[in-house]
Amino acid sequence: MVQIINNVYPLPFYMKFFKISIMAKIIQDHEGCIGCGSCAMLCPKFWEMDYDKGKAVLKGGKKNEKGEYELEVKKIECNQDAADSCPVQVIKVI
Ligand code: SF4
Repeated sequence: MVQIINNVYPLPFYMKFFKISIMAKIIQDHEGCIGCGSCAMLCPKFWEMDYDKGKAVLKGGKKNEKGEYELEVKKIECNQDAADSCPVQVIKVI
């Protein structure tokens, strides 16, 4: 039954109809960043380099209780590319 309903009205329809948006979270272990610049090069809308500190900055990110920086976004956009390219895997997209 659910499959039939989903075929008639797929999930994006319900999400738009009920104005549901799924948020994603971008998390950076800032201390673990080695400053390679890959994230900022691939995803400059969200990432920039702090050359004085030699680390990438997640634009608009707020520090959480673990000392990581995190940002909630409606769309992941290029952040998955940034995470995949990070050589020390300090970027998480959840
Ligand atoms: S890709 Fe990773 S290591 Fe490189 S600057 Fe970005 S957060 Fe830092």
